[in-house]
Amino acid sequence: MKEKFLRFMQGRYGLDQFSKALLIGGLIVVLLSSFFAGGRAGSLFYLLGWILIIYCYFRIFSKNVSKRYAENQKYLAKTYKIRTYIQQQKNSLAQRKVYHIYKCPGGCKQKIRIPKGKGKIEIRCPKCGTTFIKKS
Ligand SMILES: [Zn+2]
Repeated sequence: MKEKFLRFMQGRYGLDQFSKALLIGGLIVVLLSSFFAGGRAGSLFYLLGWILIIYCYFRIFSKNVSKRYAENQKYLAKTYKIRTYIQQQKNSLAQRKVYHIYKCPGGCKQKIRIPKGKGKIEIRCPKCGTTFIKKS
């Protein structure tokens, strides 16, 4: 079965970031459509969602690898800002579990990262040298 699938996939493009986004987007739209079920918006959302999902599979099984690759590059370039923003948010969320982020009160607005759970500590701003005391 696996061999058959691999043979089938030979020369085909496969999954990339753009297809993943299409699939997730499609699933979300289909899910949303159930909130408007019965109405015209509902069937429109449902249809749109499936178009995205089918387009995703079309791209995965496509044999026009260079064209699919170019599409993905375009997608990546267009979403570069939003993707780095999301990544930054994820990183800062992860950091907030382990660190406190303080802004320097000295007016330089330097953000200073302090590990949590160390009690009251004196912090020295690495940028302007202001010292302040915070509970970590
Ligand atoms: Zn400072």
